[in-house]
Amino acid sequence: MKLHEFQIRDPRARVERQRDPIARQIGDYFSACMDESAINAKGLAPLQPEFDRIRNLNDKSQLAGEIAHLHRNGMAALFEFGSGQDFKDSNQVIAQAEQGGLGLPDRDYYLKTDAKSVELRQKYQAHVQKMFELAGDPAAQAKTEAETVMRLETELAKGSLDLVSRRDPEKVYHKMSREDLEKLDTGFRWNQYFTDSGAPSFSAVNVTWPDFFKAEGTAIQNNSLADWKTLLRWDVLHSEAPLLPVAFVNENFNFFGKALTGALEMRPRWKRCVDFTDSQLGEALGRKFVERTFGPQGKERTLKMVEALEKALGEDIQQLTWMTAPTKQQALTKLKAITNKIGYPDKWRDYSSVAIKRDDAIGNGMRADQFEFQRQLNKIGKPVDRAEWGMTPPTVNAYYDPLLNTINFPAGILQPPFYDNQNSDALNFGGIGMVIGHELTHGFDDEGRQFDAKGNLRDWWTPADAKAFEQRAACFVDEYSKFSPAQGVSLNGKLTLGENTADNGGVRIALMALHNTLAAAPNSNKSADTAPEQRFFLSFGQIWCQNEREESTRLHAQTDPHSSGKYRVNGVLQNMPEFQKAFSCKAGQPMVRAQACRVW
Ligand SMILES: [Zn+2]
Repeated sequence: MKLHEFQIRDPRARVERQRDPIARQIGDYFSACMDESAINAKGLAPLQPEFDRIRNLNDKSQLAGEIAHLHRNGMAALFEFGSGQDFKDSNQVIAQAEQGGLGLPDRDYYLKTDAKSVELRQKYQAHVQKMFELAGDPAAQAKTEAETVMRLETELAKGSLDLVSRRDPEKVYHKMSREDLEKLDTGFRWNQYFTDSGAPSFSAVNVTWPDFFKAEGTAIQNNSLADWKTLLRWDVLHSEAPLLPVAFVNENFNFFGKALTGALEMRPRWKRCVDFTDSQLGEALGRKFVERTFGPQGKERTLKMVEALEKALGEDIQQLTWMTAPTKQQALTKLKAITNKIGYPDKWRDYSSVAIKRDDAIGNGMRADQFEFQRQLNKIGKPVDRAEWGMTPPTVNAYYDPLLNTINFPAGILQPPFYDNQNSDALNFGGIGMVIGHELTHGFDDEGRQFDAKGNLRDWWTPADAKAFEQRAACFVDEYSKFSPAQGVSLNGKLTLGENTADNGGVRIALMALHNTLAAAPNSNKSADTAPEQRFFLSFGQIWCQNEREESTRLHAQTDPHSSGKYRVNGVLQNMPEFQKAFSCKAGQPMVRAQACRVW
């Protein structure tokens, strides 16, 4: 691989000069990630300074400084720290401390006692042991270390808040002074942590779930320094595994790919490296992505669709029979205040301070993480930047942010099957139109409805309207809880309530918007051989077309706030007379739900 480096100078020197700094940065990051033989040759050497630091800790009081160091370099350990918008003062960013430190996907994986959960824990512990063995520890020692990791992570899991409760904004908002945070776990040297992490001085912090930090304090007291060193070594190995030599990558896949999701083989390396580039230098990669894929035409037509969807949701709100006029007025005010971001940010993030080297995959990752960690901390105490994006441009996804009251559609989702410039309105409204409707509806789901037009956590509902909303939402909880995507597994109707509400509302208002559009241009559909409604619903079904293994289905049912694809489609359409009419379904048939649910 040395030859490989030399080759860059000679025949490729001309190309090198032509590359702009952004292309060079993402290109070098990707190349370093792809260079598996260089990574294998280095072994664990890039992590040796990390292991040395941990070995040299000689007192539990030093844990705070070490954890700050790990966090700065992108390694997950014990909890998360950063910044967030103040739920009750939507102009202000404050510090934020969150529960964390779990290797398994969620607290329940440590606590549930059914056979599948027990089996998965055994596999996880075996995986931790194997990783320590690969790092050079004798088998017997690695076994004890894995037991220690399991025990400590279980203690953190017991102090963690469950996923359904985490959807309730009031439950994850505990704004307090720095001093009050220090009182939660007196054994942890927060001052040291704040200094070493590089946080600016601040007074207010949202401790999302204070009980977690109490549990963490107790755990630090009750376990030996040696045990914490073992956990931190694991945190380093686990966090860096995807960019370590192939034996670590394979073992990481054995558990997190095979055991957890049922995947039979790893995705090709280039795809993984594209993902890493996107997650670490996303707005640099995004600039190039947008240059090549996203024309002004796409932005213009999407904006038109967003306007059509907003208009439809406004009409829908006005027509609701269960909501009184004062709440409708507030809802319409909130709808009007929603801002749209389409394609890519107006101002690109500048990564020029991040040193990227063509022969240092692990170092590149750490430096990019340092940049991002510091960027988050720098926001503390500052006004909210409303122009910032929470997804990178190549992302095939979209989001609503209740704190900013904004909907966001990265360029990545503005392509087939969601959107195609050549497609008829019926297909585009059933695809990206439904996604737009879905995101708009999030402003009015069980979580989003608790925030006002400015993004403050404030109740703007009359008690009677709130009650009527909850009754209607309960119909979705009941409907989706009965869906069983795999044997012995049911969807969690409460965990998925927000997404199901958004899916149901999204399809309805997308169809309304399509009808409005067709009424305005009645000739636009003439050449089609199927009814626009049929094509609209087919397009909607197609965007959730997926193939999922049973293990993955179980994982998602337990942790994903979205229902699995089949129920995202069938769960919605069973509630829609418009679908039943389009395909001549009759009462009593599977796609006709006797008691149709509807909120929006
Ligand atoms: Zn959603």
